[in-house]
Amino acid sequence: MKRRLTLHFPREAVHEPITYRLAVDFDIAAKILRAQIAPNQSGTMVVELSGDIDELQAAEEWLESRGLQLNRAPGQIHIDPRACVDCGICSSVCPSGALRFDLPLGLLQFDAQRCLVCEQCIPSCPLDAISLELEAA
Ligand code: SF4
Ligand code: SF4
Repeated sequence: MKRRLTLHFPREAVHEPITYRLAVDFDIAAKILRAQIAPNQSGTMVVELSGDIDELQAAEEWLESRGLQLNRAPGQIHIDPRACVDCGICSSVCPSGALRFDLPLGLLQFDAQRCLVCEQCIPSCPLDAISLELEAA
């Protein structure tokens, strides 16, 4: 499973070897998408974490215990209603139930509150109707 996070580092955590600890302690791969951290200053980093869902949860708790603030949804999933044909394919890959195919209605339902922003649904759509809208840096 993949999850994007925005990490806000306090000054005292800037020198913490975060990606190394995530790999060694939690078996999580961290891909840095954006970083603004100056030596001895607070900073911000956008990362994509890949790993087991339980390990991701444990890693997030560890990051918070180190004083980092986490924004768990640096973007949000958007479904283009003009492109979507309510085929329901994307709902079969959604691990959280955020995407659900309402059988009697024959309509796709999207509950943004349940969305983990894991992006697994994006490549599943044959019509490219699903996209990730990132927050401005
Ligand atoms: S990103 Fe897509 S697959 Fe992942 S939880 Fe959200 S709706 Fe479901
Ligand atoms: S896979 Fe694409 S077209 Fe099919 S229901 Fe999902 S968003 Fe709509």
